[in-house]
Amino acid sequence: NQAYTRTLLSHFPILSMPQNSSKNVAVIGAGSAGLVTARELQREGHSVVVFERENQLGGTWVYTPATESDPVGIDPNREIVHSSLYSSLRVNLPREVMGFGDYPFVAKKKPGRDPRRYPGHGEVLNYLNDFAVDFGIIGVVRFGMEVGFVGKMENGKWKVSCRKRENDVVFATEEYDAVVICNGHYTEPRIADIPGIEVWLGKQIHSHNYRVPDPFRDQVVVLIGGAASATDISREIAEVAKEVHISSRSATSGVPMKLPGYDNIWLHNMIEAVGSDGGVNFQDGSKILADIILHCTGYKYHFPFLETNGIVTVDDNRVGPLYKHVFPPVFAPSLSFVGLPWKVIPFFLCELQSKWIAGVLSGRISLPSKEDMNADIEAFYSAMAASCIPKRYTHNMDDSQFDYDDWLAAECGSPPSEEWRKQMYIISRKNKKTLPETYRDEWDDDDLIIQAHEDFVKYIP
Ligand code: FAD
Repeated sequence: NQAYTRTLLSHFPILSMPQNSSKNVAVIGAGSAGLVTARELQREGHSVVVFERENQLGGTWVYTPATESDPVGIDPNREIVHSSLYSSLRVNLPREVMGFGDYPFVAKKKPGRDPRRYPGHGEVLNYLNDFAVDFGIIGVVRFGMEVGFVGKMENGKWKVSCRKRENDVVFATEEYDAVVICNGHYTEPRIADIPGIEVWLGKQIHSHNYRVPDPFRDQVVVLIGGAASATDISREIAEVAKEVHISSRSATSGVPMKLPGYDNIWLHNMIEAVGSDGGVNFQDGSKILADIILHCTGYKYHFPFLETNGIVTVDDNRVGPLYKHVFPPVFAPSLSFVGLPWKVIPFFLCELQSKWIAGVLSGRISLPSKEDMNADIEAFYSAMAASCIPKRYTHNMDDSQFDYDDWLAAECGSPPSEEWRKQMYIISRKNKKTLPETYRDEWDDDDLIIQAHEDFVKYIP
C-alpha cells in the first residue's frame, strides 16, 4: 500500500503554494464528498481536518441494519441513523462511470471483493476505504465527532464546535479559515402531504428506514414515489407482500394497471386521500384497503449546525443563494458546499467541485465579484421560474451535469469529462428506466468499457 501511495503521490504532487495562500480548513463529513475534498485541499497545500460523526468513513455507503425510532423520520429528537441503504442494494451506475476521475473504481482480484460491473454496496465502501488509505486521508479524520455549530466570527474566521456523539458534551471549539460542508443529503426524509393521513391507522415508513422486505410479508403496501429506490424496493417487496400499489406522479395512465410481468404490483397516479378505515383513494378513482404506506419520496437538505443569520437558507429544498451550487457569495470563498446536485454522477462531480474550491481558497483560481456571482444566481433562479420549474429542483442536474462538470474542469485547468463517461451514463440511465430488472447484469456497451479501461491505464500502477 505504501508503494501504491507513493505512486499516486508522484502522479499528483502536492502543489507548492506560497505560504500565505495555504488555509486551515474544516471539512464536515467523511463520505465520498468529504474524502475527495480532503484530498484536493491537501494537494493544493491546505491544512485539513475532517469531522465525521460516525466511527468510520463512507457516509451513505456504511450499511447498517439499524433503523430510526420514528419510521417516517419526523421526530426531531430521534437518534439519527445516517445511511439509507437497504441490504440488497446494488449501485445504479456502471462502476466505470461511478468512480473518481483519477482513481478508477475497477474490480479488484482480492478475496471478499465484488467484481460485478454494478456491485453491491459493500464494494463501494471498500473502494472508499482504499481511496482514503492510498491518499493518506485517514490521519486527518476525527471520527465520532459531530459538528454542532458552524458560524462566522468577527475576525473573519469560522468557529466550529463539535462533540463526541456518545456523551453529547461539547468537546472542542476551534477556529478555521474556511469550512467545506460535505454532510450528505440522503438522511432527512421528505414526506408526501396526504389528505387524511392524521386519521389513517395503518403503518407508515420512509425508505430511509427500509432495510429488508420481511416486515412486508402478506401485507397490502402502498409505495409512493417513482425514483431509483422506489423501483428497486417495489420489486423486492412484491416477492413477499400480498399486493404492492405504486403511486407516482409519473404514472401516465388515468386508470390503475398491473405492472407488466408482475401479478401483484399495480400502478396508480397520486393519492387523493386516505381514511380512518385504512382506505387509500387514488386520483385514478380506485380505492384499496392498505396495511402500510411506504414513502419513497426523497430527502431534505439539512444543515442543523450552520448559523449564517439567515443568509444561507433552505427554501423548498433550494439551498441558497449559492454560486454554481457551491459558494454563498457573501461568505465566498471561506464557506462552501460539496455534493448538493442530484441526478448526477456524484463522485466525479464532487471531485471537480472540491478541486475548484481548493484552487479558489489558495488564490490560484479567481471567483467573479460578489455582484457578478449574485447576478449569475438571480439569472439562474429567474430562468427556472420562467420555465415553471419548482425551487425544489434547483440542484437537479441530469442532462446539464456534463456542461456543469466541464465548466468546473475548465476553471480548474483540467480536461473535460471523457466522452465515454457521458455516453455510458446516458445509456445506463436509459436502461435503468426501460429494463429495471436486468440493466445491472446485461448491457451492450462493451466498446465504451474498452475505452474507459484504455483511459484508466494511466491511473493504475
Ligand atoms: P454521505 O455519504 O451521506 O456522507 C456524509 C457524511 O457526513 C456522513 O459520513 C455523515 O456521518 C457525516 N455527517 C453528517 N452530519 C455531520 C455532522 N454534523 N458532523 C460530522 N459529520 C457529519 N450514488 C452513486 O454514485 N451510485 C449509486 O448507485 C447510488 N445509490 C444510492 C442509493 C441510495 C439509497 C442513496 C441514499 C444514495 C445513493 N447514491 C448513489 C448517492 C450517494 O449518496 C452518493 O454517491 C454519495 O455517497 C454521497 O456522498 P456525500 O459524501 O455527499 O454524503
